[in-house]
Amino acid sequence: MSAPMKNRIDFLIERVEKQNPSANVKKIRAAYECAAQAHEGQKRRNGEPYIIHPVAVAEIIVEMGLDTDSICAGLLHDCIEDTAFGYREIENKFGTSVAELVDGVTRLGMLRYSKEQEQFEDLRKMFMAMAKDIRVILIKLADRLHNARTFQYLPERKQRDKALETMEIYAPIAHRLGMSRIKWELEDLCLRILDPIGYQEIVDGLEQQSERYEDFLDHIKESISLKLNEAGIRHDISARVKHIYSIYRKMYSQHKTMNEIYDICAVRVIVDTVADCYNVLGYVHDLYKPIPGRFKDYISTPKPNGYQSLHTTVIGRDGIPFEIQIRTEEMHKMAEYGVAAHWKYKQGLDKVGNEQAFSWIRQLLEAQQDTEAEDFIKAIKVDLFADEVFVFTPKGDVVNMPAGATPIDLAYAIHSAVGNRMTGAKVNGRIAPIDSQLKNGDIVEILTSKEAHGPSRDWLKIVRTTEARNKIKQWFKKECREENIIKGKEDLDRELRANLLYNGFYENEEVIQNTLNKFSYQTIDEMYAALGYGGITLTKVLNKVKDEVGRVRRAAERLEKAEQMANQPQQQPQKKNKHSESGVIVEGIDNCLIKFARCCTPIPGDDIIGFITRGYGVSIHRRDCVNVRINEEDKDRSRWVNCWWDEDLLERNNKFSTALQISTRSRTGVLADIAVLLAQAKVNVRDLNARDLEDGYGVINAVIDVSGVRQLKHIMTRIKNTKGVVDVARITSDGGR
Ligand code: MN
Repeated sequence: MSAPMKNRIDFLIERVEKQNPSANVKKIRAAYECAAQAHEGQKRRNGEPYIIHPVAVAEIIVEMGLDTDSICAGLLHDCIEDTAFGYREIENKFGTSVAELVDGVTRLGMLRYSKEQEQFEDLRKMFMAMAKDIRVILIKLADRLHNARTFQYLPERKQRDKALETMEIYAPIAHRLGMSRIKWELEDLCLRILDPIGYQEIVDGLEQQSERYEDFLDHIKESISLKLNEAGIRHDISARVKHIYSIYRKMYSQHKTMNEIYDICAVRVIVDTVADCYNVLGYVHDLYKPIPGRFKDYISTPKPNGYQSLHTTVIGRDGIPFEIQIRTEEMHKMAEYGVAAHWKYKQGLDKVGNEQAFSWIRQLLEAQQDTEAEDFIKAIKVDLFADEVFVFTPKGDVVNMPAGATPIDLAYAIHSAVGNRMTGAKVNGRIAPIDSQLKNGDIVEILTSKEAHGPSRDWLKIVRTTEARNKIKQWFKKECREENIIKGKEDLDRELRANLLYNGFYENEEVIQNTLNKFSYQTIDEMYAALGYGGITLTKVLNKVKDEVGRVRRAAERLEKAEQMANQPQQQPQKKNKHSESGVIVEGIDNCLIKFARCCTPIPGDDIIGFITRGYGVSIHRRDCVNVRINEEDKDRSRWVNCWWDEDLLERNNKFSTALQISTRSRTGVLADIAVLLAQAKVNVRDLNARDLEDGYGVINAVIDVSGVRQLKHIMTRIKNTKGVVDVARITSDGGR
């Protein structure tokens, strides 16, 4: 081992001891020894011994102020991936906590970015989601920072890829965690690679003016210091030129030249108390003229990521504007190290579990108020606390799935053809059951074959996403129509027999037709097929058949009676009869089968009349229905009978279906408005559909259940008053209007 390395680790340990007397320096040294041994003989791209990298990463972690385990994990972070010293060994030697940190960092290292823009946000979310422990993210940031410092040794294309990835994923995460020092450095390092010319322009510009700036800043520091000393305010003052990427961004986003940018220079005053912050502000404004509108109080209203400070821009000597930032020491630590600082100050790190740590981050993020932060809050909520899982394809694309998703879901998310040809799956390189639940960061390869038989029906029970379910159903619908018909018929026939409905179904064309109509099938094969692929359940069909068969049987019985009555007419009209189940009393016929005519859908309150049909009992019409035409020539005259509503029944609050036609100015949402209105009125809606007419008008047909004319009128008035409705009317004949 080289002497400089030895010095470097000694120096690191010295610093840890100074910073945190309770740190376990023995453990840190042991971790270093292990890492040095594990990486023995390995070289970095620039020819240096590999161990320099983990030590540098550990240095950054120490600077952040993290705990012993994090420092150890920093030293060991490349072991699992690159050396023979694996998880077990780390766990045995340094405990589960260190092993899990290293493992977490290794997993984040598998993150591959894809150049598609929309992937970045997913990647950032995934990054957060994968790290179950915030320290993993901090260590990974340290790792990336040191790598970024040595980007120049990578091949050129790799430089750009890595720089872009860093700019789009790592820097924003550092920003959101409030770690501005790391964020700035990452951004400047990346800018140098992504836009070397733009970068150089700024560097040159700053250099040309450096003497002027330096002189200028020295002078300012002096005069402020003098003033504060007079006032007896203890302070620490520093001045600097802002970092390059922030100048770059201002130049490009505001189309300005360097000379037009305010506040290239910044002065920072650090004091002991919040009260002093405001005092200093007063003195500064005495000394220099503030630019109106440039004062920002981030102390009373912290930035989303927790940043606190007073900012003001003032005019200095020669009319050069500069920014002054005033804050306390603690705010300063927060500003530089963000979450890491908070971590250290607010939590006795070693004592807290991750859960608590995360709940703290959540609080921090929830306290963030501006919109920029909103997405991130959403993201972090979703990711840390619920229901999304991010997995990789072998190509490195990220796929975002609901938690609990299986390889089958993934296959169909990629493409239905992939799903339909799927024969198995590999998760992280190993064959996995196709119903296994995917975890964040899993690399999932879908195995396919042209000879695959297609999805299995069992998959419908396994998949988690509607997309996959629909695609599987579709496949069965398309690919196996013949099989589906056979299977569907078999299933249905078996159940019909079991329920003694077989003959009732097949021997009456009307029963079949009504059943098909109910579910909108054109042919019986269509229904078989749907049963076969699971587009409709057996129970649904069976229930309908049961209803129909029962209805037809009752109808037949009653018709017999009704026809007897009709054939011996002109008894004394006899008004009151026994109650009828259906709510209508028919003159001269007891409790017969009643059907409300579809053409006029009568409801209690309407004047009604009945027609004795052949086979369907008595059909009830409104007296003003267009189909009620009783005249001398009508050979069916004798079939018309007087009817009344059964008053008792109305009290029992039965509901009756009736049809409405609503004319609208075709306006998006009018259908929805009406649906809402009906729902609010607690009206059962049997059918509601809309179609467009010419000239931008539309028609909505609704079939609703009401207690009678009074309720209906009330509802019609409300519909009429809905925006976009031209007219509402009851339908009085089948043909509509
Ligand atoms: Mn590394």
